Amino acid sequence: MKHLTPEKLAQLSSYPGIIDSHIHLDSQAFASDLDQCLSRAARAGVSRMLLPSTDESSSRRILQLTQQHPQLSGGLGIHPHQAAEFDPQRSPRVWRDFLQQSKWAAIGETGLELHYDFCPLQTQKQSLQAQIELAAETGLPLILHCRLAEEPLYEMLQPWAGKVSGVVHCFTGGWEWALKFLDLGFYIGVGGLVTLPKAAEVHEVAEKVPGDRWLLETDGPYLSPVPFRGFRNESCLLPLVVERIATLRKISAPEVVRQTAENAFSLFRL
Ligand SMILES: [Zn+2]
Repeated sequence: MKHLTPEKLAQLSSYPGIIDSHIHLDSQAFASDLDQCLSRAARAGVSRMLLPSTDESSSRRILQLTQQHPQLSGGLGIHPHQAAEFDPQRSPRVWRDFLQQSKWAAIGETGLELHYDFCPLQTQKQSLQAQIELAAETGLPLILHCRLAEEPLYEMLQPWAGKVSGVVHCFTGGWEWALKFLDLGFYIGVGGLVTLPKAAEVHEVAEKVPGDRWLLETDGPYLSPVPFRGFRNESCLLPLVVERIATLRKISAPEVVRQTAENAFSLFRL
Protein backbone atom coordinates (compact mmCIF):
# COMPACT_ATOMS: atom_id res chain seq x y z
CA MET A 1 0.00 0.00 0.00
CA LYS A 2 1.46 3.38 -1.02
CA HIS A 3 2.03 5.91 1.76
CA LEU A 4 1.20 9.60 1.43
CA THR A 5 4.07 11.85 0.38
CA PRO A 6 4.86 15.24 1.97
CA GLU A 7 3.75 17.00 -1.26
CA LYS A 8 0.36 15.29 -1.14
CA LEU A 9 -0.01 16.02 2.55
CA ALA A 10 0.65 19.71 2.02
CA GLN A 11 -2.61 19.97 0.05
CA LEU A 12 -4.80 18.81 2.95
CA SER A 13 -7.05 21.05 5.03
CA SER A 14 -7.66 20.86 8.76
CA TYR A 15 -10.88 20.99 10.82
CA PRO A 16 -10.47 20.89 14.60
CA GLY A 17 -12.45 18.36 16.62
CA ILE A 18 -12.83 15.52 14.09
CA ILE A 19 -13.42 12.08 15.59
CA ASP A 20 -12.40 9.07 13.52
CA SER A 21 -14.83 6.42 14.74
CA HIS A 22 -13.14 3.54 12.90
CA ILE A 23 -9.47 3.01 12.05
CA HIS A 24 -7.33 -0.13 12.28
CA LEU A 25 -4.18 1.47 13.67
CA ASP A 26 -3.17 -1.91 15.10
CA SER A 27 -2.78 -3.21 11.53
CA GLN A 28 0.66 -4.05 10.10
CA ALA A 29 0.02 -1.29 7.57
CA PHE A 30 0.71 1.29 10.32
CA ALA A 31 3.53 -0.55 12.10
CA SER A 32 6.40 1.41 10.57
CA ASP A 33 5.19 5.00 11.09
CA LEU A 34 2.39 5.04 13.63
CA ASP A 35 3.73 8.11 15.45
CA GLN A 36 3.86 10.11 12.22
CA CYS A 37 0.28 9.02 11.43
CA LEU A 38 -0.83 10.26 14.83
CA SER A 39 0.85 13.64 14.39
CA ARG A 40 -0.53 14.03 10.86
CA ALA A 41 -3.99 13.23 12.24
CA ALA A 42 -3.56 15.85 14.96
CA ARG A 43 -2.52 18.44 12.35
CA ALA A 44 -5.67 17.64 10.32
CA GLY A 45 -7.75 18.37 13.44
CA VAL A 46 -8.50 14.77 14.41
CA SER A 47 -8.77 14.78 18.19
CA ARG A 48 -9.82 11.19 18.88
CA MET A 49 -9.68 7.82 17.11
CA LEU A 50 -11.55 4.59 17.85
CA LEU A 51 -9.76 1.33 17.05
CA PRO A 52 -12.01 -1.72 16.52
CA SER A 53 -10.49 -5.16 17.12
CA THR A 54 -10.27 -7.80 14.42
CA ASP A 55 -9.17 -10.73 16.61
CA GLU A 56 -7.56 -11.56 19.94
CA SER A 57 -4.04 -10.45 19.05
CA SER A 58 -5.49 -7.25 17.60
CA SER A 59 -7.29 -6.60 20.93
CA ARG A 60 -4.01 -7.11 22.77
CA ARG A 61 -2.25 -4.59 20.51
CA ILE A 62 -5.12 -2.11 20.83
CA LEU A 63 -5.04 -2.40 24.61
CA GLN A 64 -1.36 -1.44 24.46
CA LEU A 65 -1.97 1.45 22.05
CA THR A 66 -4.84 2.94 24.06
CA GLN A 67 -2.66 2.84 27.18
CA GLN A 68 0.15 4.67 25.36
CA HIS A 69 -1.93 7.30 23.57
CA PRO A 70 -4.74 9.12 25.40
CA GLN A 71 -6.49 10.12 22.14
CA LEU A 72 -7.13 6.46 21.23
CA SER A 73 -10.02 4.26 22.40
CA GLY A 74 -10.65 0.60 21.63
CA GLY A 75 -13.42 -1.71 20.52
CA LEU A 76 -13.22 -5.30 21.78
CA GLY A 77 -14.29 -8.24 19.62
CA ILE A 78 -13.80 -10.48 16.59
CA HIS A 79 -14.26 -9.32 12.99
CA PRO A 80 -16.55 -11.42 10.76
CA HIS A 81 -13.56 -12.19 8.50
CA GLN A 82 -11.86 -13.75 11.55
CA ALA A 83 -15.01 -15.35 12.99
CA ALA A 84 -13.50 -18.85 12.64
CA GLU A 85 -11.38 -17.82 15.64
CA PHE A 86 -14.53 -17.51 17.77
CA ASP A 87 -14.72 -20.24 20.40
CA PRO A 88 -17.96 -20.31 22.43
CA GLN A 89 -16.07 -21.59 25.50
CA ARG A 90 -12.93 -19.51 25.32
CA SER A 91 -13.79 -16.20 23.61
CA PRO A 92 -16.25 -14.85 26.23
CA ARG A 93 -13.64 -15.61 28.92
CA VAL A 94 -10.95 -13.78 26.96
CA TRP A 95 -13.25 -10.78 26.47
CA ARG A 96 -14.08 -10.62 30.17
CA ASP A 97 -10.38 -10.63 30.90
CA PHE A 98 -9.76 -7.74 28.49
CA LEU A 99 -12.70 -5.81 29.97
CA GLN A 100 -11.13 -6.07 33.40
CA GLN A 101 -7.78 -4.78 32.20
CA SER A 102 -8.98 -1.54 30.66
CA LYS A 103 -11.87 0.71 29.69
CA TRP A 104 -13.22 -0.18 26.24
CA ALA A 105 -15.49 2.13 24.23
CA ALA A 106 -17.30 -0.51 22.18
CA ILE A 107 -17.81 -4.17 21.30
CA GLY A 108 -16.60 -5.11 17.82
CA GLU A 109 -15.83 -5.02 15.07
CA THR A 110 -18.38 -7.75 14.56
CA GLY A 111 -21.13 -8.21 11.98
CA LEU A 112 -21.67 -10.26 8.83
CA GLU A 113 -19.77 -10.53 5.56
CA LEU A 114 -21.37 -12.16 2.51
CA HIS A 115 -19.16 -10.73 -0.24
CA TYR A 116 -15.97 -12.59 0.72
CA ASP A 117 -16.16 -16.20 1.80
CA PHE A 118 -13.59 -16.18 4.64
CA CYS A 119 -15.85 -17.95 7.08
CA PRO A 120 -19.23 -19.76 6.90
CA LEU A 121 -22.25 -17.57 7.68
CA GLN A 122 -23.30 -19.86 10.52
CA THR A 123 -19.96 -19.32 12.30
CA GLN A 124 -20.15 -15.56 11.72
CA LYS A 125 -23.62 -15.57 13.27
CA GLN A 126 -22.43 -17.42 16.38
CA SER A 127 -19.62 -14.93 16.86
CA LEU A 128 -21.98 -11.99 16.28
CA GLN A 129 -24.60 -13.38 18.66
CA ALA A 130 -22.03 -13.70 21.46
CA GLN A 131 -20.88 -10.12 20.87
CA ILE A 132 -24.46 -8.79 20.88
CA GLU A 133 -24.92 -10.51 24.24
CA LEU A 134 -21.66 -9.00 25.49
CA ALA A 135 -22.81 -5.54 24.38
CA ALA A 136 -26.13 -5.97 26.19
CA GLU A 137 -24.37 -7.18 29.32
CA THR A 138 -21.73 -4.42 29.41
CA GLY A 139 -23.90 -1.60 28.05
CA LEU A 140 -21.24 -0.91 25.40
CA PRO A 141 -22.29 -0.04 21.82
CA LEU A 142 -21.61 -2.42 18.91
CA ILE A 143 -19.39 -1.65 15.93
CA LEU A 144 -20.95 -3.58 13.06
CA HIS A 145 -19.52 -4.59 9.72
CA CYS A 146 -22.12 -5.39 7.05
CA ARG A 147 -21.28 -6.41 3.52
CA LEU A 148 -24.19 -7.63 1.37
CA ALA A 149 -25.69 -8.92 4.63
CA GLU A 150 -28.28 -6.31 5.64
CA GLU A 151 -31.12 -8.80 5.90
CA PRO A 152 -29.49 -11.43 8.16
CA LEU A 153 -27.87 -8.68 10.25
CA TYR A 154 -31.18 -6.91 10.72
CA GLU A 155 -32.87 -10.17 11.73
CA MET A 156 -30.27 -10.80 14.40
CA LEU A 157 -30.45 -7.27 15.83
CA GLN A 158 -34.22 -6.91 15.83
CA PRO A 159 -34.87 -8.92 19.03
CA TRP A 160 -32.38 -6.63 20.82
CA ALA A 161 -33.98 -3.32 19.83
CA GLY A 162 -33.83 -0.93 22.77
CA LYS A 163 -31.32 -3.17 24.59
CA VAL A 164 -28.24 -2.61 22.40
CA SER A 165 -27.09 0.27 20.24
CA GLY A 166 -24.10 0.93 18.04
CA VAL A 167 -23.02 1.83 14.54
CA VAL A 168 -23.29 0.07 11.20
CA HIS A 169 -19.94 1.23 9.92
CA CYS A 170 -19.07 2.09 6.31
CA PHE A 171 -22.71 1.72 5.38
CA THR A 172 -23.33 0.59 1.77
CA GLY A 173 -26.83 -0.87 2.08
CA GLY A 174 -28.82 2.02 0.56
CA TRP A 175 -31.33 4.38 2.17
CA GLU A 176 -34.16 1.85 2.73
CA TRP A 177 -31.92 -0.35 4.86
CA ALA A 178 -30.37 2.67 6.57
CA LEU A 179 -33.86 3.66 7.74
CA LYS A 180 -34.44 0.21 9.20
CA PHE A 181 -31.16 0.25 11.16
CA LEU A 182 -31.89 3.81 12.33
CA ASP A 183 -35.27 2.53 13.57
CA LEU A 184 -33.48 -0.10 15.64
CA GLY A 185 -31.53 2.74 17.28
CA PHE A 186 -28.27 2.33 15.36
CA TYR A 187 -26.00 5.01 13.95
CA ILE A 188 -24.65 5.04 10.40
CA GLY A 189 -20.91 5.31 9.64
CA VAL A 190 -19.82 7.39 6.64
CA GLY A 191 -16.27 7.39 5.24
CA GLY A 192 -14.10 7.59 2.12
CA LEU A 193 -16.59 5.84 -0.18
CA VAL A 194 -18.72 8.99 -0.15
CA THR A 195 -16.05 10.73 -2.26
CA LEU A 196 -16.48 8.27 -5.16
CA PRO A 197 -18.37 10.08 -7.93
CA LYS A 198 -20.53 7.06 -8.79
CA ALA A 199 -21.45 5.95 -5.25
CA ALA A 200 -25.02 7.26 -5.56
CA GLU A 201 -26.44 5.11 -2.75
CA VAL A 202 -23.72 6.17 -0.33
CA HIS A 203 -24.31 9.81 -1.29
CA GLU A 204 -28.02 9.48 -0.61
CA VAL A 205 -27.44 8.02 2.85
CA ALA A 206 -24.87 10.72 3.72
CA GLU A 207 -27.34 13.38 2.61
CA LYS A 208 -30.44 12.05 4.38
CA VAL A 209 -29.17 10.51 7.62
CA PRO A 210 -30.45 12.56 10.60
CA GLY A 211 -27.84 14.93 12.05
CA ASP A 212 -27.84 13.19 15.41
CA ARG A 213 -27.38 9.65 14.08
CA TRP A 214 -24.21 9.44 12.02
CA LEU A 215 -20.45 9.13 12.50
CA LEU A 216 -17.31 9.91 10.52
CA GLU A 217 -14.78 7.16 9.90
CA THR A 218 -11.79 6.23 7.77
CA ASP A 219 -11.72 2.40 8.02
CA GLY A 220 -8.00 2.94 7.41
CA PRO A 221 -5.82 1.44 6.06
CA TYR A 222 -8.65 0.72 3.58
CA LEU A 223 -11.12 2.85 1.57
CA SER A 224 -9.08 6.00 0.88
CA PRO A 225 -11.02 9.01 -0.35
CA VAL A 226 -10.60 10.55 -3.80
CA PRO A 227 -8.00 11.75 -4.94
CA PHE A 228 -5.92 9.32 -2.84
CA ARG A 229 -7.37 6.02 -4.07
CA GLY A 230 -4.64 3.36 -3.95
CA PHE A 231 -2.89 5.07 -1.04
CA ARG A 232 -3.07 3.88 2.52
CA ASN A 233 -6.03 5.54 4.20
CA GLU A 234 -5.37 7.36 7.47
CA SER A 235 -7.18 9.84 9.68
CA CYS A 236 -5.44 12.91 8.21
CA LEU A 237 -7.47 12.35 5.01
CA LEU A 238 -10.79 12.86 6.82
CA PRO A 239 -11.01 16.57 5.88
CA LEU A 240 -11.66 15.42 2.29
CA VAL A 241 -14.57 13.31 3.50
CA VAL A 242 -15.84 16.17 5.68
CA GLU A 243 -15.84 18.56 2.70
CA ARG A 244 -17.66 16.10 0.42
CA ILE A 245 -20.36 15.46 3.03
CA ALA A 246 -20.71 19.19 3.74
CA THR A 247 -21.54 19.70 0.06
CA LEU A 248 -24.02 16.82 0.03
CA ARG A 249 -25.80 17.97 3.20
CA LYS A 250 -25.55 21.66 2.30
CA ILE A 251 -23.99 22.52 5.66
CA SER A 252 -20.55 23.87 6.54
CA ALA A 253 -17.54 21.60 7.08
CA PRO A 254 -17.25 22.66 10.77
CA GLU A 255 -20.92 21.74 11.22
CA VAL A 256 -20.20 18.23 9.85
CA VAL A 257 -17.40 17.92 12.40
CA ARG A 258 -19.58 19.26 15.23
CA GLN A 259 -22.48 16.86 14.55
CA THR A 260 -20.35 13.75 14.17
CA ALA A 261 -18.14 14.55 17.18
CA GLU A 262 -21.18 15.09 19.38
CA ASN A 263 -22.65 11.78 18.16
CA ALA A 264 -19.40 9.88 18.77
CA PHE A 265 -19.13 11.31 22.29
CA SER A 266 -22.67 10.33 23.13
CA LEU A 267 -22.57 6.84 21.56
CA PHE A 268 -19.13 5.79 22.82
CA ARG A 269 -19.10 7.97 25.97
CA LEU A 270 -15.54 9.01 25.08
ZN1 LIG B 1 -13.12 -2.09 9.98
